[in-house]
Amino acid sequence: MSKDGLVIVYTGNGKGKTTAALGLAMRAIGYEHKVCMLQFIKGSWHYGEMDSSKKLEPNFELIAIGKGFVGILDDNSPREEHEKYAVEALRICKEKINSGNYNVVILDEVNYAINLGLIDVQEIIKLIKEKPSNLDLVLTGRDVKEEIIELADLVTEMKEIKHPFKSGIKAKKGIDF
Ligand code: ATP
Ligand code: MG
Repeated sequence: MSKDGLVIVYTGNGKGKTTAALGLAMRAIGYEHKVCMLQFIKGSWHYGEMDSSKKLEPNFELIAIGKGFVGILDDNSPREEHEKYAVEALRICKEKINSGNYNVVILDEVNYAINLGLIDVQEIIKLIKEKPSNLDLVLTGRDVKEEIIELADLVTEMKEIKHPFKSGIKAKKGIDF
């Protein structure tokens, strides 16, 4: 049996989820496949991939769609403001997934956005069910919902054995961001 497009999940509390998704993108781009990475929540930090993606244009497109609700934990914008951004984020996801322009779409930290209650898991389930059959869809973030696991073809849980953070080593340029 072969299946055209897979649903791939990288979850768990160990490091490597976003890195794994980027590695997958790197591999796909080698075949001139088109990859779109949509990053939820991120925006206040600068990540190396925000620049390396530009070097891989037009095969790699990276969009930080979470900008608006990055500050959720310490900001004081009204809830409606965040909900407005979440609606917009979903709209962009749908548009990219259904555009037919990509072989791979990565929803980075989407699980985080779901767990914060910014995105309704049912909306993501609908996206997964209705995606073009040949599209590979990658979802990352801790604590993936059971309903998403059920629909996925591949689920890998990153398990922390050791992390430098625990010995007081700060996030490292090129490794962590
Ligand atoms: P990466 O982006 O490095 O692949 P990730 O996607 O698995 O990490 P996230 O939950 O998205 O992990 O966390 C992003 C940030 O938190 C990164 O700077 C990462 O190095 C750091 N981080 C990831 N896992 C851990 C951990 N177990 N303990 C402390 N910090 C972590
Ligand atoms: Mg991540």
